[in-house]
Amino acid sequence: MIDICVIGGGPAGAIAALELMRFGYRTKLVSLPSRHRDWPEAVSPQLLIMLDRLGLSGVLAHSVHTEITEKRVKWRSGKESGKSLSLGGKIISRDRFDRALVVAAIAAGVDYVNGAAGPPTQQSDGTWQIPIGADGQVKVCARFLVIATGRRNGWFGSTIAQGARSIALYGIMRNCEMPAGTMVVGTADTHWYWGVSLPQDTYHALTFVGAKRLSEAPIALLERSLPPDTKSRPITFNGAADATFRVARRAIGQGWLRVGDAFIAPDPLSSSGLYIAVLTAIQSARVINTILRRPSDVLTAETFYKNTHREMAAHFVAATASFYLSEESGPVAKVEPSANSHELSFPLSDLILSPSAKLHLVPTLTNDFVVMAPGLVRSNKPPVVFVDGIPVDRLLAPLQAGGSLASAVSEWIELAIPSRLRFVQFLLENAFLIEKRKKRNS
Ligand SMILES: Cc1cc2nc3c(=O)[nH]c(=O)nc-3n(C[C@H](O)[C@H](O)[C@H](O)COP(=O)(O)OP(=O)(O)OC[C@H]3O[C@@H](n4cnc5c(N)ncnc54)[C@H](O)[C@@H]3O)c2cc1C
Repeated sequence: MIDICVIGGGPAGAIAALELMRFGYRTKLVSLPSRHRDWPEAVSPQLLIMLDRLGLSGVLAHSVHTEITEKRVKWRSGKESGKSLSLGGKIISRDRFDRALVVAAIAAGVDYVNGAAGPPTQQSDGTWQIPIGADGQVKVCARFLVIATGRRNGWFGSTIAQGARSIALYGIMRNCEMPAGTMVVGTADTHWYWGVSLPQDTYHALTFVGAKRLSEAPIALLERSLPPDTKSRPITFNGAADATFRVARRAIGQGWLRVGDAFIAPDPLSSSGLYIAVLTAIQSARVINTILRRPSDVLTAETFYKNTHREMAAHFVAATASFYLSEESGPVAKVEPSANSHELSFPLSDLILSPSAKLHLVPTLTNDFVVMAPGLVRSNKPPVVFVDGIPVDRLLAPLQAGGSLASAVSEWIELAIPSRLRFVQFLLENAFLIEKRKKRNS
């Protein structure tokens, strides 16, 4: 009997296994070689930081094709924008990235099994039996199960397609003569597309179409997704894959949970799939650690994971819908409010805490466990428990004691100045601050 069996060795499964091994659990990673075609994928600066914190920058260095040096956005209206925008992201080879992550997991002590897992069965004592291989003769026994099988797995309540089924067509053009690192995103009437030029003069194009449009030849669709300065070269069709936005019906149950695409497989336009894979891998390891080491906190850990799933799904559904509804909208990006976009019409000393700013205990990730911690709760949005790692209750204490915002800000010495401004902005936008005068009148 082992502690944890992770099924699926993509980024989500490999990182979850690695983190669980670091917590001291006997962990097995069972995976089929990826069916992923080795198209390039974009990694955001935010994800680069996360990988660095996990000690995985070496994995990244091994997988990078190029930095993103320029981004071109072409809207349906024909308008172009965003030229020469420095993004700080990178383009990676998924094949190299996935293999390097599995190597890192094995080096950390994870037992890797190359094979297909069949549907797991739960025993009467709550443990799992997982058949491996074509005949299912080899059985792995584990206390906990991590489902990291990607976007189409139907175990444990399946995934729900959000909107129409969509397919990604992949093509490569040689001798494109574009500077490496030029990323192109565009919308047309029938499809949207993404492409990037890599070293060795190749241009890699992905065209995203509704499954119903597949009557049209892939090459024709790919050709209509090319930037004007590359069109003279022929493009070769290199394969297709499902790209439908899917959300799992259930994220966690007794003795199991889902991570990565098996949890939420976002529309690829968001370029957030890898971010979700890494984030859920990190979170899931802490959730499992809490469940297995602190039995009295099982409910807290499960609630945290369910809340995360609900909030993330709501965010991506809303962001994707707004992209498709808007003629000019750009690829989805979570825009942080700018610290100085909110004009203050009264001095900070006139602002005090609103009675609506209540702290509630909410399930939260802290270090290696999920615990209950005080957070500022907003309707339909995730609670705020930390600001740059500082507990929100500590920051609000001067205001709760009746002080003004001016006196509170002067006590936030732990918080960098831009973060102080952002936090003030957040309190104002959520009406967590009111004018002293209003309080007296009300
Ligand atoms: C066309 C396209 C372009 C994309 N571009 C980007 C991008 O630019 N940036 C970005 O961040 N994201 C992008 N994504 C999303 C990203 O690829 C996924 O979010 C990411 O692969 C999810 O990782 P994962 O580990 O959850 O799943 P996967 O990478 O799918 O890994 C699942 C693994 O499980 C294995 N497996 C499945 N079933 C079993 C079984 N029964 N037994 C054993 N093993 C099994 C599979 O072989 C595979 O190795 C894109 C997606 C698509 C479709």
